[in-house]
Amino acid sequence: MSGRSPIAFVLPVGERGGAESVFFEILRRLDRGRFAPVAIFLRDGPFVREVKEAGIPIHVQPITRLRDPFDYGRTIRALRQQLAQWRVQLVVSSHGYGHLYGGVAAWWARVPAIWWQHGIASSRHLLDRMAVRIPARVVIASSRSAAEAHCRAFGSARAPLRVIHPGVDVEWFRSPDPQRLARIREELRLERFRSLVSAIGRLEPGKGQDLLLRAARLVGERRPDVGFLIVGEELHGARSGYASALRALVVALGLSERVIFAGFRREIPEVLAASDLLVHAATRPESFGLVLCEAMAAGRPVIATDIGGAREIVVSEETGWLVPPGDPVALAKAVLSLLEDAERRRAMGQAAERRARACFEARRMVAQFEHVLDELLLGS
Ligand code: UDP
Repeated sequence: MSGRSPIAFVLPVGERGGAESVFFEILRRLDRGRFAPVAIFLRDGPFVREVKEAGIPIHVQPITRLRDPFDYGRTIRALRQQLAQWRVQLVVSSHGYGHLYGGVAAWWARVPAIWWQHGIASSRHLLDRMAVRIPARVVIASSRSAAEAHCRAFGSARAPLRVIHPGVDVEWFRSPDPQRLARIREELRLERFRSLVSAIGRLEPGKGQDLLLRAARLVGERRPDVGFLIVGEELHGARSGYASALRALVVALGLSERVIFAGFRREIPEVLAASDLLVHAATRPESFGLVLCEAMAAGRPVIATDIGGAREIVVSEETGWLVPPGDPVALAKAVLSLLEDAERRRAMGQAAERRARACFEARRMVAQFEHVLDELLLGS
């Protein structure tokens, strides 16, 4: 690794969500002439294998419970050893949880730490209150909305705060594989619908899939030929019962013929190619909303709720719609208005793709991130 700066990324989960998609793009795109990225996972999972297959050196250091001081101490010692073995010059941790490990190991190893927050910080959350006390040379927020929340909760005095909007591989999302697309269409019997509305993301109350189902019932009164595809599952070990509650709701609303639960999928470009539009009905502010950019890159208009990072992604009435959170009637209206006007849908899809290319391209995100690395490593 001589001549190049080894940078360690500490990721608390082994399954793919938005933060992991962001780090995946960074890990595989960082300028190899200057940086040697390595990844440390605090849990094993399918995403660990993806990173390994991308040729990134990895170390898995499974943790049990943060509250177990022996386990915490043992983990920090092991992380410090690993940082020394790789001669790491800078540690980047994902989420407050990752920073509680990566930030402390970095401090002990006397190397600078970056905390990429990937969330909306709150002084009510013990984890955030703890993470904010751990030294970080820079805190990165994924949107202005997340940065403002951080300042409201903790002020901006502890560490410089930077906003870097996550980015996606636009080319990948606009080039679905025809065979995979045909397989998905056949497997899910999508030809029975005239239009398809998709929602992609973890199944959890904050993502608002239940609101989409309530809107689906209203849409169905006018357009019984519209299908709804729910992609994703309960992740990060969460077994909240939300997934089974959603299935029960589908039955109660009489939507069994029109709603498909597709589970977790890697073929997102193909899912989007099969869809007419994407709905993201978040009920709580999210720091960003990568699926919105992915759908836009695929040339699909998106309907999102008018809170959090989504406001910085969607230009309402131009690349999609922003609707009030928690309002299935407004959501159903927006879905119907887009489904009933193919010309407008097409124009919005094109505007969405242009915006994804201009503002949410992975290359731009990586360049901004490299700039932060240069500042810390070279003092430039
Ligand atoms: N995702 C996926 N397959 C699924 C569901 C989600 O690959 O079945 C990916 C999705 O494409 C996106 C990420 O998981 O890259 C979700 O990111 P987002 O920022 O929307 O949500 P977060 O997980 O950060 O709350």
